[in-house]
Amino acid sequence: MSAQTYEFKTEAQQLLDLMIHSLYSTKEIFLRELISNASDALDKLRFEALTVEGLIEREPLEIKIEADAEARTLTIDDNGIGMSREEIIENLGTIAHSGTKAFSEKLAELKAESSPESLIGQFGVGFYSAFMVASEITVISRRAGTTEATRWTSRGDGQFEVDEAERSDHGTRITLKLRDTDEDNGLADFTAEYTLRQIIKKYSDFVTWPIALKIERQEPIGGAEDEGEDEDETPPETETVVKWEVINSQKAIWTRNPSEVTAEEYAEFYKHISMDWEAPFETISFKSEGTFEYHSLLFIPDRPPFDLFYREHKYGLRLYVNRVLIMENNEELLPDWLRFIKGVVDSPDLSLNVSREILQKDRRVSSIQARVIKKVIDTLSKMHKEERDRYISFWEKYGRVLKEGTTDYKHADKLKGLLLFQSSHHDSELTSLAEYIERMKPEQEDIYFITGESRAAVERSPHLEAFRDKEIEVLYLIDPVDEILVSHVTEFEGKALKSVGKGDVELGSEEEKKAAEEARKEKAQAHKDLFEFIQKTLDEHIKEVRLSARLKDSAVCLVGDDQDMSPGMERLLRQANAMNMPKQKRILEINPGHGILTRMQAIFELTPEAPVLEDYAHLLHGQALIAEGSMPVDPVAFSKRVAELMLKD
Ligand code: ADP
Repeated sequence: MSAQTYEFKTEAQQLLDLMIHSLYSTKEIFLRELISNASDALDKLRFEALTVEGLIEREPLEIKIEADAEARTLTIDDNGIGMSREEIIENLGTIAHSGTKAFSEKLAELKAESSPESLIGQFGVGFYSAFMVASEITVISRRAGTTEATRWTSRGDGQFEVDEAERSDHGTRITLKLRDTDEDNGLADFTAEYTLRQIIKKYSDFVTWPIALKIERQEPIGGAEDEGEDEDETPPETETVVKWEVINSQKAIWTRNPSEVTAEEYAEFYKHISMDWEAPFETISFKSEGTFEYHSLLFIPDRPPFDLFYREHKYGLRLYVNRVLIMENNEELLPDWLRFIKGVVDSPDLSLNVSREILQKDRRVSSIQARVIKKVIDTLSKMHKEERDRYISFWEKYGRVLKEGTTDYKHADKLKGLLLFQSSHHDSELTSLAEYIERMKPEQEDIYFITGESRAAVERSPHLEAFRDKEIEVLYLIDPVDEILVSHVTEFEGKALKSVGKGDVELGSEEEKKAAEEARKEKAQAHKDLFEFIQKTLDEHIKEVRLSARLKDSAVCLVGDDQDMSPGMERLLRQANAMNMPKQKRILEINPGHGILTRMQAIFELTPEAPVLEDYAHLLHGQALIAEGSMPVDPVAFSKRVAELMLKD
């Protein structure tokens, strides 16, 4: 096929422009990105070669870096998997995930000052970072297992050209025509041996493939054996000697003793596997020896990935068998509620030829998963105890995902100890369930909570009045997933979690409770007929009218039975399935000490048929709904009734 010119896809060119015009000074990261791509290509080749015999034509598998100071070019060459013509066009002309919802949302948020590192991190466009330092890039690549090579050339100005090329083995050679050196703008002399050595060491030391740098030295012809002895003044004749020197230590970082690895080294490795551009929030390293051996290195990213709550979010750990990468995202090693964790598991004991299906059934894989979970929970528990502020910052990033784990009965107990909530005790600080229990009143048996949309909304709820009066703490569960959380987290350390909006709440000591209940029963007897009337009027909407133990100021509120669904949960389910779910009837509670009750009772005794009583009943129901943030059943009729009442003398 002959030469063809293509246009970059719009999004690709947009990102490319941002990258090229970036004022960001750490431009040297382009080399890390190109080495990282080469390393991935070698990983892929090694993996494919497990099943395709003869695929590897040349060994050793390696990355070669070669600078030409005169021509001002820098070349990065790998004998990895390579790319076919189609793959080159696809991989270097478009952007993975572009067109997805998460992608376009992210692109819309982009700020002009976004650093190239954050562009790379968010869009996976590491290759393009080379345009920060190069005015022209040429890629020559041959896919392993094929014979044709392809050349891709671009100046990053909207177009790229693709043509046939020659390459003797599989792999990819990327040649950068370097821009002029401009130290002030991060453009070091990337042909200088010293600079290249430093960059490779700094960012890519852990790469498991050799990174060989071409070194040219002037050496005396025939060696320097007579050095120092010869007093002859004429300088010895020299020749240019070319050597390839491996710069990186190649040691798999996960097998190294954590005390010997610096935070910077871990951070660079983390960036390599995660596409993140910042150091991780936490690093966890562990190993298992004995009958079943493995090493693991886990990271909690400092910021949650933007697609954490999208269904298309890909997660998992990198699985290696004896340093050979077998899978980039192995989901079996992580439960989905730890989907934010990045990292590596390497086991020499697993078979190199494992497939996803076999791994799913492998008991060893589930035992690694159990250990991963334990390590993460232990780390978080320790942080929770010893570094409260850090834990809170973790919780703010990942608390919502962690809550999902409480559905997993095997880990629910430990996870419950890690939960944090807002509460009536603090203005903004968070509290754990254990801390709540410590503050419980001596006679208090249950842990009380209220669910709602925001702190402001729940704080105003009439359901809290008696609790406030008795100074009993109530947890504010204001995250939408909390409705689901409390449907299965029903107790903690033997104490039941109880909604303030459900069932009877009788607060105080045993005697106080009894006395209050007696008094209420007596009072209810006096209002029996009126309550029957209200029930009849509102029968469509409520299942019971009763006197309230939880109201102090408000006239009315709506509550559920212990086993009823909360209104928030009902709303959630209604949204989730459009099916016609029958509306639940709730209980209308009336404040026994409120003037409205006395007033209605008086009217009722005088004229039981008075039409105004029906209006009152509907208005009570409407008020109760409004107070909990819902709409009255018929808002128009509700306002009409209010207006009429206002016109009465
Ligand atoms: P990313 O590496 O994050 O996917 P890049 O823009 O750096 O994004 O690279 C795009 C794609 O191009 C890679 O996913 C890979 O498929 C391909 N690619 C890049 N460099 C090489 C290489 N040296 N060998 C083989 N394929 C490569």
